[in-house]
Amino acid sequence: MYIIMSSKGFLFCVVCRLDDSRDFTSAGFSAYSTAEMIAHIDSHRNAGHDVLDGLESKLLEDDLENFPNRPNHTNQTQPTPPSVEE
Ligand SMILES: [Zn+2]
Repeated sequence: MYIIMSSKGFLFCVVCRLDDSRDFTSAGFSAYSTAEMIAHIDSHRNAGHDVLDGLESKLLEDDLENFPNRPNHTNQTQPTPPSVEE
């Protein structure tokens, strides 16, 4: 898995393998805040996936740049993205 910053204003986990029920064509996870993606990365680690060391701190460093218009950008709660529905 790897993370990209979409130009549409969210982080995207590419070829996300957390949900095995999905085929690869629809795989992927969208996060609309840095905190949300960090929680998602945590799930990958817990599942035993190979996650880049320091990825979370890199995301935090980029947080202001990725989400410049959001107050309290690291601690806000966001609605559940539609892509994680079962
Ligand atoms: Zn993922």
